[in-house]
Amino acid sequence: MKIPALFQLRILNLALRSLFSRAYTMDFPRKPFEARPEFRGRPRYHEEDCIGCTACANVCPSGCIDVIDEPAAKKPVRKLVHHHDRCVQCGQCQRCCTTEKGIILSNEWNFSGYSSEEFTHGIEKELLLCEVCGGILAPKDQIKWLAERLGPLAFCNPTVMLVSHKELAVVDEGIQKNTEFPERAKRINIQCPHCRRKTSFTA
Ligand code: SF4
Ligand code: SF4
Repeated sequence: MKIPALFQLRILNLALRSLFSRAYTMDFPRKPFEARPEFRGRPRYHEEDCIGCTACANVCPSGCIDVIDEPAAKKPVRKLVHHHDRCVQCGQCQRCCTTEKGIILSNEWNFSGYSSEEFTHGIEKELLLCEVCGGILAPKDQIKWLAERLGPLAFCNPTVMLVSHKELAVVDEGIQKNTEFPERAKRINIQCPHCRRKTSFTA
C-alpha cells in the first residue's frame, strides 16, 4: 500500500521530534522506580506503634496475617506474621488498625523473591498472663496503651493499674503481699476476668 506523501512527512516529523525530546517512558531499570505516595504496596508492621491487639488479622479478607501465641515460652509472646504472597493489598489492616500506625502499606512495589522467608514479615509482642490461672490476658503494650487513654480511670482495674504503674515504680511488690489478709491481697493481682470474678467473690 502506498502511503500518501503528506502522511509520510507527518511520520518523519514525529520521528525527528521524539529523537530530540525527553523520553516519554521512565528510565527504569537504570534509575530506581519510586512509586507514588498513594500507592498501596507491601504492608509493614511498625514495632513501636503496634500493640499486638490482632484487629488487623481479624479484618484481613485474605487471612494472610497469622497470630501465634506462645504462653509457655520462657518469655511469653504473641507473634504476628504477615504472608505477603497471600496479601491483596486492600489496605483494610491499615484502615482498621487500633493505633492507626501499627501496620502501614509501604510504597514497596517489587514483590519478587526466591524463598518463602522473603514473603513473610512480622513482629513479636510480650504477652501478659493471668497470675492466678496462667491464661493469656493481652500483650503488655495493649494494656499500657489502654491505661494511657483511661488516665485516672485506670485505677478502677487492678490489672491495668499494676501494669502501667509498676513501670513508673508507683506500685511496689508489697501491695500484693498483704500477710494480714492474704486472700484480699490476691485481688491486687494481674488477673483474667474469670479469675477476678472468682477472687472478688471469695476474698
Ligand atoms: S492489605 Fe489487605 S490482604 Fe494485605 S494484610 Fe492488609 S488486610 Fe490483609
Ligand atoms: S495495633 Fe494495629 S497493627 Fe498492631 S495488632 Fe493491632 S491492628 Fe494490628
